[in-house]
Amino acid sequence: MLNGQKRYITNASRSDWYSVLARTGENSFGVFAVHKSDPGLSFGKLESKMGVRGSPTADVIFEECRVDDYRLLGDSKEGRQYITDSLAYTRPLIGAQALGIAQGALDAAIKYVKEREVFGQQVARFQMIRGTIGDLATEIEASRQLLYRSCEAVENKEPEARTLASMAKLFCSNVAMKVATESVQLHGGAGYLTDFPVERMMRDAKITQIYEGTSEIQKLIVAKAMLSD
Ligand SMILES: Cc1cc2nc3c(=O)[nH]c(=O)nc-3n(C[C@H](O)[C@H](O)[C@H](O)COP(=O)(O)OP(=O)(O)OC[C@H]3O[C@@H](n4cnc5c(N)ncnc54)[C@H](O)[C@@H]3O)c2cc1C
Repeated sequence: MLNGQKRYITNASRSDWYSVLARTGENSFGVFAVHKSDPGLSFGKLESKMGVRGSPTADVIFEECRVDDYRLLGDSKEGRQYITDSLAYTRPLIGAQALGIAQGALDAAIKYVKEREVFGQQVARFQMIRGTIGDLATEIEASRQLLYRSCEAVENKEPEARTLASMAKLFCSNVAMKVATESVQLHGGAGYLTDFPVERMMRDAKITQIYEGTSEIQKLIVAKAMLSD
C-alpha cells in the first residue's frame, strides 16, 4: 500500500507508468511500477513555471494506493541502489539538455551580432564582444568534451562513472546558465524581449542547475569521491 506525495514530477498525469521509490522496511526501499489508472493514484495541479513550459510538471499523490507484488522491480530492499545507479545515466541527459541550450544561445547571439549594426559598425567587430564569444565557445567545447567523457564512462561501467556524471551535469548546467545570460546581453535590449529565442533559453537553462539533483548536490558527490570518505 503506497501513501505519500512526490512533488514536482515531470510528465505527471501525462505518463502512463511511474517508477516509485517507496519504503519497504525501517531502512529499506523498493521500486514499484505504478500505472496511471491504479486506484489511489492522483495528481496535483499543473505547475506554472519560469521555463521549460512545454514540459508538464505536477505532484504525484498516493492515497492507499495498492499495487500487486509483480509490480515490485527487482529486490525489495535494493531500491535506493537502483535509483542511485540510474542517476549515472540520467544526469548526463540533463547535461546534454544544458549543452544544447548553451549551443543554441551562442548560435543565436552570433547571428544577431553579425546582423546588428551600431554607429555604422557590426556589433561582431567590437573587440569586447569578440572576447565574450571566444570565452563562451571555449566553455561550450569544454562542456561537450566532459559530457562525452561521462557518457563513455557510464557506457563502459567505469568505477568513476557516477562522479563524472555529476561533474558533467554540474559543469554543463553552469555553462548553459552563463552562456544564455551572456547571449541575452549580446542582444542588448532585444535579448530581453520574447521576440528573440535567448530570453526563453535563459529561463530554460535555470532548471538544469536544479533538477536531477541541484548543483550543490553534484558538488557534494564529486567532493565525496575526491576525499574518499
Ligand atoms: C520543473 C521540475 C521538474 C522536476 N521533475 C522531477 C521528476 O521528474 N522527478 C523527480 O523525482 N523530481 C523532479 N523534480 C524535483 C527536483 O529534482 C528537485 O526540486 C531538486 O532536486 C531540488 O530538490 P528540492 O526542490 O527539494 O530542493 P531543496 O532540497 O529544498 O533545496 C533547497 C536548496 O538547498 C540546497 N541544499 C539542499 N541540500 C543541501 C546540502 N546537503 N548541502 C548544500 N546545499 C543543499 C539545494 O541545493 C538548494 O539550493 C523536478 C523539479 C522541477 C522544478
